[in-house]
Amino acid sequence: MNFKMDKKNNVSLHQNTNKMATNRTFTMLKPDAIENGHMGKILSMIIDAGFTIKAMKYTRLTEAQAGAFYEVHKERPFYGELVSYMTSGPIVAAILEKDNAVEDFRKLIGATDPAEAAEGTIRKYFAESKGRNAVHGSDSDENAAIEGAFHFSANEVF
Ligand code: UDP
Ligand code: MG
Repeated sequence: MNFKMDKKNNVSLHQNTNKMATNRTFTMLKPDAIENGHMGKILSMIIDAGFTIKAMKYTRLTEAQAGAFYEVHKERPFYGELVSYMTSGPIVAAILEKDNAVEDFRKLIGATDPAEAAEGTIRKYFAESKGRNAVHGSDSDENAAIEGAFHFSANEVF
């Protein structure tokens, strides 16, 4: 983890995100996806959809990392469960590149709740539930840059 996701740190965050362009997004294959053996299939779907991998690591989040990553949800009732789920096993974190990356990737993963996810989406195929939903995708260019810099240092991004 390189930076705290605190608004006060925005200046230093953005000084370190010069490799992140607006055609990039950030993803995590979450612990349920790895545990259920879906890592390869999900990566294939991502690559087949035209995304290029600019950075990738297989790692396990600490409680501090998961807590900071999802800090925006701190007051929500599911926050505690979310942090313990996200630290329950290894994840794959990656920075992806494609035209219109953020929006196209959100379309590829589908709605947060698999019951509402469109046919053919990653969450429709692989999510267990609204909480254990297989994959993360950034929701804006700004958050993609922040989240990418949170997990990768500049020399890990290609
Ligand atoms: N989440 C949950 N319960 C909810 C909403 C969200 O457990 O009612 C979890 C779920 O893993 C989700 C993550 O919190 O992916 C972040 O929520 P967000 O609303 O940002 O959904 P996303 O952007 O991942 O679709
Ligand atoms: Mg979100």
